[in-house]
Amino acid sequence: MSKITQVYAHEILDSRGDPTIETVIRLDSGQTTVSSVPSGASVGAKEALELRDKDSRRFAGKGVLRAAENVNQKLGPALVGMDPANQTEVDQKLISLDGTKEKKNMGANAILSISQSVCKAGAIASGMSLYNWVSKLGEGMQALNSKLPTRIPTPVFNMINGGLHGAGNLDFQEFQVIPASSKIFSEGLRTSVEVYYQIRESLIRRGAIHSVGDEGGFAPNLFTNADALEIDIEAIKEAGYQIGEDFFLGLDVAANSIWKNGSYTIKDRSNALNGSGLESYYESINQEYRLIYLEDPYHEEDWNSWRELTAKIGDKTMVVGDDLLVTNPERVSRAVSEKACNAILVKPNQIGTVTETLGVIKLARNAGWKIIVSHRSGETNDWFIADFAVGVKSDYVKFGAPARGERIAKYNRLLAIEKELAATQQ
Ligand code: PEP
Ligand code: MG
Repeated sequence: MSKITQVYAHEILDSRGDPTIETVIRLDSGQTTVSSVPSGASVGAKEALELRDKDSRRFAGKGVLRAAENVNQKLGPALVGMDPANQTEVDQKLISLDGTKEKKNMGANAILSISQSVCKAGAIASGMSLYNWVSKLGEGMQALNSKLPTRIPTPVFNMINGGLHGAGNLDFQEFQVIPASSKIFSEGLRTSVEVYYQIRESLIRRGAIHSVGDEGGFAPNLFTNADALEIDIEAIKEAGYQIGEDFFLGLDVAANSIWKNGSYTIKDRSNALNGSGLESYYESINQEYRLIYLEDPYHEEDWNSWRELTAKIGDKTMVVGDDLLVTNPERVSRAVSEKACNAILVKPNQIGTVTETLGVIKLARNAGWKIIVSHRSGETNDWFIADFAVGVKSDYVKFGAPARGERIAKYNRLLAIEKELAATQQ
């Protein structure tokens, strides 16, 4: 048995230059692990609390010194002597030391940075790669279908950034290009990068802005949301690939940000839309672009619209809950019983521990939903979620565009795992 001898945290920066927290675990063997946590811009109302200092003299109030102090003074010392392989026990301890549902006392950022770092330590102590260790933890909790083969999940690339991640011009947050699941990951990545290059060319040809947004996708000035879908289609063709065969399209509408006083406003329509008006719009773009993936098509409390859309298009399209579900077991259970969606975006920092994230995956799997493990728009170079996604046998991963170091860190890790799996599965 291995033992945790020290836990300490400090403030670092994320990809937006905002402070975040990094936690180091030291084991009795002398080995150490490090993990840091990301931060969202489009945040669901029911997410666990991200503790920030609110001291306006530092980082415009965004500092995380209090969260780091919670690790150093309260949470960390309580873990000394524990076995890092005992993830559930560690996470239970962290949850009970906080004592609130939303992790309001210690902060979900403080707690998750420890939980992830302990998970890495558990892998080291067990002599396993992180993805195999996560897989073992998941099987222990019956969160995983152990009959599914270990494979690299299919990537969902956010090629054009709008909404809160873009230049304020496009309403929808993500215009996604998804390679066929039949392609091995490295091929999907290469061909998607070729499409990414063509999107840049297409924007340059149109005289549109081609600088990038928070997740590495282009953040152009276009007339309508449909223009962005058109550019994705054009780029796929110009790269020499076929839509519907090599590539598919998806959207994260992040509809909380187009919703005001009960109706939705988008550039493609001159008047505000109610739920069914927006559904008609989705049906029209779906006919034209055959979306296989539609995330947060409605506001997080517009349950009726979610149900109706899922009943209409759910047989062909993944209707994905992000802000709707916030990786929260109560929200997921409600969505399962109401048939509000058929896929889940899994973001560990929405709930705050590895164990609870695995529990949510179990609920979603039992409902027959697709699983998409996701980054946040503010990221670090930690690739924990790449291993986590492979370990939990997620169907897809969403790590942004194939650009910017903090996104590439995850994709490159998946390349390395692909190589390792090819060597071991021969
Ligand atoms: C998302 O909405 O899916 C996303 C990754 O963005 P954020 O991290 O800003 O919530
Ligand atoms: Mg989203």
